[in-house]
Amino acid sequence: MANKDQKPTTNDAGIPVASDEHSLSVGPDGPLLLHDHYLIEQMANFNRERIPERQPHAKGSGAFGYFEVTDDVRKYTRAAVFQPGTKTDVVMRFSTVAGERGSPDTWRDPRGFSIKFYTPEGNYDMVGNNTPVFFVRDPMKFQHFIRSQKRRADSNLRDHDMQWDFWTLSPESAHQVTWLMGDRGIPKTWRHMNGYSSHTYMWVNAQGEKFWVKYHFKTDQGIDFLTQDEADHLAGADADYHTRDLFDAISKGDCPSWTLYMQIMPFDDAETYRYNPFDLTKVWPHGDYPLIKVGRLTLNRNPTDHHTEIEQAAFEPNNLVPGIGISPDKMLLARVFSYADAHRARLGVNYKQIPVNSPVAPVHSYTKDGAMRVQKVADPVYAPNSKGGPSADGDRYPTDSTWHTSGDMVRSAYTLRRDDDDFSQPRALINDVMDDQARERLVSNVVGHLKDGVSKPVLQRAFEYWKNIDPEIGSRIEKQFHES
Ligand code: NDP
Repeated sequence: MANKDQKPTTNDAGIPVASDEHSLSVGPDGPLLLHDHYLIEQMANFNRERIPERQPHAKGSGAFGYFEVTDDVRKYTRAAVFQPGTKTDVVMRFSTVAGERGSPDTWRDPRGFSIKFYTPEGNYDMVGNNTPVFFVRDPMKFQHFIRSQKRRADSNLRDHDMQWDFWTLSPESAHQVTWLMGDRGIPKTWRHMNGYSSHTYMWVNAQGEKFWVKYHFKTDQGIDFLTQDEADHLAGADADYHTRDLFDAISKGDCPSWTLYMQIMPFDDAETYRYNPFDLTKVWPHGDYPLIKVGRLTLNRNPTDHHTEIEQAAFEPNNLVPGIGISPDKMLLARVFSYADAHRARLGVNYKQIPVNSPVAPVHSYTKDGAMRVQKVADPVYAPNSKGGPSADGDRYPTDSTWHTSGDMVRSAYTLRRDDDDFSQPRALINDVMDDQARERLVSNVVGHLKDGVSKPVLQRAFEYWKNIDPEIGSRIEKQFHES
């Protein structure tokens, strides 16, 4: 060995190997020998290095940090993670949605904003986005939506015609599409964007009182964005621009943070609120439900092995802890099945035993065996039992994040409320939130997107779609399209 301070190479069984450079052959020029099991291990492992990428949210990266509660929200939730002064370790992952693992970070797309809190009552995951709304409100349409954003069957190309075809036939997408085509559709970095739960969840306090809640993680770095031209340039010059930015910032000790605010709706308000509060294509206007401060999330540690710590990190909105529950949002009801199912398919049934997914809370579950199980189970392996095995404590951990429901089984849209329509909230975004320059960029972004291969009938529907959102913006888009 050249340097006595270096560790000797071993194989995966820890057995020292004789060479990093030469395979075992019959004479220096002779054929290779099958019993060179170290060479075989190297080749076999390499052939199996790639695992299926996420479908969607394949391209992303993340970091570790902590969440600190700075304010007192005990009257809304008993969750340990949100009690005053509590500090909880987290892992976070940011991502684009439609692109594959090697795709550019700066494509126009929503960004994933996923957090796993390692709480003393088990892992709590928030699988959010940098947008407060989504393109569809029924999970039946989710798969179709994602396929429309990915690649065609014939050419294997992404196709704006397919995207606008889906969007214009799905008017509930108008709010998210407006958001996406605006400045926030391409954040400058992951550090310069907000994160939202988007979904409505339930909080339950120590007295059993229930509240409907939405999470808003506001960036402490300030909102910033890339123009389409800047993003297009970066997509070629540095496809990993956002990944690099986060890693470099944390390496330098410039640790990004987000302040968590909640919108909190008293349980009974949901019945009569002017919007369906569970419709994922809608926000709750701040004027109705102002932001209530909870704490700060800080990222301060980079992964040292992206694959084991980030690629294998499995976030799932069904990871809920006492004091936090779901809501009747149909998209959320489906996601609480779908995410864990995706992890089982991608990582294997025992993915929660991969260290990044393992809770700090003790596990006393009754699952058993399966591929790659590494934590031992102990008898008894069934419940109920009289052998001293774990026993569910419904008094201490009641199923209380519930709501009353009844009705015939139907396949139907949500019942419309007074102010429920697909266009007034995106119209408010354009007219009340954006300024003249932001509106100009919105028009230019939409025209640029439509110019890229959208067919005539779809194009006509796209002009109508924008006129439904806002007649003036729709006309400007149509005019600029024909003039440019
Ligand atoms: P407010 O004026 O109280 O809030 C407007 C919100 O818009 C702010 O949270 C702001 O975020 C955000 N915003 C600013 N510029 C953009 C942009 N280019 N793209 C997307 N969001 C932007 O109004 P309302 O609560 O009554 O909502 C009006 C509209 O604002 C909604 O219809 C919705 O489209 C949008 N919005 C609303 C949010 C909500 O939860 N109520 C959240 C985000 C957007 P910030 O303060 O962080 O800069």
